[in-house]
Amino acid sequence: MISPSILIVDDSAVIRMTIGEYLRIFGYAIDAAENAEQALSILQSKKIDVVITDIKMNGGMDGLELTGQIKKSYDSDVIVITGHSKDYSYEEAIDRGADDIVFKPFNPEELLLRLKRVLRKRNLTQERDRVLMELKTLAITDSLTGLYNRRHFYHELEIEISRVIRHGHRLSLLLIDIDDFKKYNDRHGHIDGDKVLRKTADLIASCMRKMDSAYRYGGEEFTVILPETDCSSAVKLAQRIRRIIATHFLAVPDRRKITVSIGVTEFNPQDSLSEFVHRADKAMYEAKGSGRNQIACSLRDSDSQSSISAV
Ligand code: GH3
Ligand code: MG
Ligand code: MG
Repeated sequence: MISPSILIVDDSAVIRMTIGEYLRIFGYAIDAAENAEQALSILQSKKIDVVITDIKMNGGMDGLELTGQIKKSYDSDVIVITGHSKDYSYEEAIDRGADDIVFKPFNPEELLLRLKRVLRKRNLTQERDRVLMELKTLAITDSLTGLYNRRHFYHELEIEISRVIRHGHRLSLLLIDIDDFKKYNDRHGHIDGDKVLRKTADLIASCMRKMDSAYRYGGEEFTVILPETDCSSAVKLAQRIRRIIATHFLAVPDRRKITVSIGVTEFNPQDSLSEFVHRADKAMYEAKGSGRNQIACSLRDSDSQSSISAV
């Protein structure tokens, strides 16, 4: 296990050394700084779990200001050491974000107990944050393919549309549907079908640029949101996806029939979210109608007429 890292900030060399040597006995990794400025430069260069700081120090910044800076910019807990001075109150230290306070004079055992308590709380908080993050990821991920799920698709599309309306960027959308997948399942079984879904998702993801995002929209349907992309670039990407999928499965024995049909559309400022998605869907059905393993593009013109073309 990695030892918790502690930074002691005090202008007295004797105190820095005494606390440091004592805490080292219990396995903590110790750094020391003689003023707040030095402490901040250490925090910039390495991860510190807990800062133990005096309040009154030589130099520009006192321990309370330092606490405020740490809480604003770093993920460290802070224990403030203070005398019973009228200049600094307990509330002030708490207001600045201090996680605990030790009053002078103190014995090292008391400091150790408070440090252990702060570290225990820190571990619990980190564990809670990790679990929350995992739950958040699960909530937006499709468990079979690892792509984002349909709920997240609508969430992200709404954000992208509001961005387009604010900044006037282009925005395109692909709707990808595996051809004759029911037949494939009937012939090879559902488990094999699942493998095809996973591989198709991987192939789609392999074609995307950094800002694009792919989703499993439904059973054997996928969507790709393409920010800052006009229709002709979206068609090019769709062609790459269509080709890479057809070529990949052709090379796998017994899977020669996996192809996709792709509907492409570009956002028009007059569109509602559902009109935008619906147009991609219509284009996808047009691609199916043209024989599958095809791409079709649907655009809305200024008279709100949709035109579909095979590409
Ligand atoms: P088309 O070319 O017109 O799209 O034909 P299709 O057979 O792909 O379309 P249809 O909508 O008739 O059938 C979709 C099939 O996708 C039905 C179902 O068996 C399959 N499917 C949906 N979800 C899953 C899944 O999670 N795993 C597997 N293995 N198959 C799935
Ligand atoms: Mg379908
Ligand atoms: Mg299908």
